[in-house]
Amino acid sequence: MGNVKWRQPLATAMVLAVLAACGQPTEQPAPAEETSAAAAVDAERLVNADADMGNWLSYGRTYDEQRHSPLTQINADNVGDLGLAWSFDLNTTRGVEATPLVIDGVMYTTSSWSVLYALDAKTGDLLWEYDPEVPKAWGANACCDVVNRGAAAWNGKIFLGALDGRLIAIDAKTGEKLWENQTTDPTQPYTITGAPRVMKGKVIIGNGGAEMGVRGYVSAYDAETGEMAWRFYTVPGNPADGFETRELEEAAKTWNGEWWAIGGGGTVWDAMAYDPVLDLLYIGVGNGSPWNQEIRSPGGGDNLFLSSIVALRPDTGEYVWHYQTTPGETWDYTATQHIMLADLDIDGETRKVLMQAPKNGFFYVLDRETGAFISAEAYAEMNWATHVDPETGRPVEVPGARYRESTHLTVPSGYGGHNWHPMSFNPKTGLVYIPAIDIPAAFSQDADWGLRKMIWNTGTSALDAPLPNDTAAREASRALLKGQLVAWDPLQQKEAWRVQHKGPWNGGTLSTAGNLVFQGTANSRFVAYRADTGDELWAMEAQTGIVAAPITYEVDGEQYVAVNAGWGGVFGLAAGFYVQPESATSANRILVFKLGADKQLPPLDIVAPEWPEAPELTASADVLEQGKALYAQYCQYCHGVSAVSGGMVPDLRFSAMLGQEDWQDILLGGLLSDAGMISFKDMMTPNEADAIRHYVIERLIQDRKAAQVASEMED
Ligand code: CA
Repeated sequence: MGNVKWRQPLATAMVLAVLAACGQPTEQPAPAEETSAAAAVDAERLVNADADMGNWLSYGRTYDEQRHSPLTQINADNVGDLGLAWSFDLNTTRGVEATPLVIDGVMYTTSSWSVLYALDAKTGDLLWEYDPEVPKAWGANACCDVVNRGAAAWNGKIFLGALDGRLIAIDAKTGEKLWENQTTDPTQPYTITGAPRVMKGKVIIGNGGAEMGVRGYVSAYDAETGEMAWRFYTVPGNPADGFETRELEEAAKTWNGEWWAIGGGGTVWDAMAYDPVLDLLYIGVGNGSPWNQEIRSPGGGDNLFLSSIVALRPDTGEYVWHYQTTPGETWDYTATQHIMLADLDIDGETRKVLMQAPKNGFFYVLDRETGAFISAEAYAEMNWATHVDPETGRPVEVPGARYRESTHLTVPSGYGGHNWHPMSFNPKTGLVYIPAIDIPAAFSQDADWGLRKMIWNTGTSALDAPLPNDTAAREASRALLKGQLVAWDPLQQKEAWRVQHKGPWNGGTLSTAGNLVFQGTANSRFVAYRADTGDELWAMEAQTGIVAAPITYEVDGEQYVAVNAGWGGVFGLAAGFYVQPESATSANRILVFKLGADKQLPPLDIVAPEWPEAPELTASADVLEQGKALYAQYCQYCHGVSAVSGGMVPDLRFSAMLGQEDWQDILLGGLLSDAGMISFKDMMTPNEADAIRHYVIERLIQDRKAAQVASEMED
């Protein structure tokens, strides 16, 4: 608990003003009962959230998740006067992905390891902090960093999904835990990184783990008691156990083999939206587990409800409709990306639509009442399909894209044409602002696949990832990675404008009625663009790559723009060499701006580490090759491709523990498991661990030499 200092609710402030006018003292401690209005969010307030202009009441601001604010005090004419009002250090080197809530002057936001903060939204003063104390070793189950994307509010409570699968209700006023419920089987590698949503007194929460071998589902819990109300599984289980619903019995006909033994996947790890008029909850369903359909469901099949948008009744979890974006997915093409609802005039008719830019690269417009396909076009580079057939709503695949016989260099890759980074929609410009990605990746069959704990089980060869040793070849592969802010016209299904960024992994977006789009970038800038043209109007040096989406809110008549600035997520962890050095500085902070403010961030003091002397390399070429393969299988998803760290976890090339004994103590002895580095003793022999060590030493020698050559050329 920090420095508890509650802002007065408006009604109390008015009473005090009247008392002051009557000669009463103006400074009075607020009586306890009058502070109980913290997070006073109910059904009516959430349904009318768009008109509640000063607040940001839920993850996507409104149930339709448009992330568009009607506030105009900060606008395209004056945004040049924007300055830093306050900042709050998040004290983490890990991924920062959360969208804050702001409710009546209080900001509730999360950070890595599922830590929750309540802050005075005007000053940044810490009101309280809640740390669910997730065991650090659980981080090994998180495919994509120990991130958390945000909290939800309802009736004086803040709801938090913890990385280890707990759903926790916290008193919004005091930060004390009210209840918690384990939403997952703790013997299975489930994680929660997504924000809960609340409707009709129920807290909806999904989970992740489809890289690790789990079965996906979404659950609803009673907001007051924490009791589970319903659970909807997204993929069928073992038919011998009977099916939970008739829809799963039907879905099982689209699967082959013994998918249930390897999880099946289909986790609901991010997107949800709610239409209170239709009373439909929309969920986005993830990739197959493993990715490779040849292993997961030999002989093919659509594998419902993988990569689908599913509409459910929020009271019961009853299935209403689904639309599958990638039948028989085999590329990690989740449909967990941002689901956004809007009413659009299409061919002279107002249609209630649902929009999504899932990983597969197509921008979809669907009828959200029925799930009927309206249109889809490619918003990102793609070479796995040519188009979506408007008759069937199915993608038309390119021969060979399923990499059955040979390697296919595919774009989008598992990073997606768009990932979890939120989009936004400006009803006035009619444009959707997409943080889009072009990252190709090679897919091929994994010759010796077997389900393993604690590592990615993709069923594709991990050996496609390591970089070539040749510097020029590496630079050429870096040049293939691109990222851009795409302003997409959903009616015309085409791009209106784009801003090309320096790296592929940029921030989510915020749209405002001030004709502005805000976005942070991989190269550590926080930028305001004109919403109608894409012209850059204002930018600040954020001292860190930004991946989260900004918000805007108002306190005491002043508009603020806020962003949880920090690097991370799956690209930051795994992409290593491809990460720009300026992205991963650990200067992770909440940055909050208003007009006329001029606070400065302390200067960033980053000293490039000295290349260490390498221990003697005694291993044979065969051992080095074995070490490279083992590293790719077990280590690269956190420590980075080819042993180059993306900056969030230690760079092994610089490790002081490269001696044989130290290395074995960590890798097999679990010496650093409290810090999150688990023991791999059940997965490899001492000789195999040593082969990895030799490979890392080889990489150190190569990169140290390349750095020396480069610096001699400069001299
Ligand atoms: Ca995935």
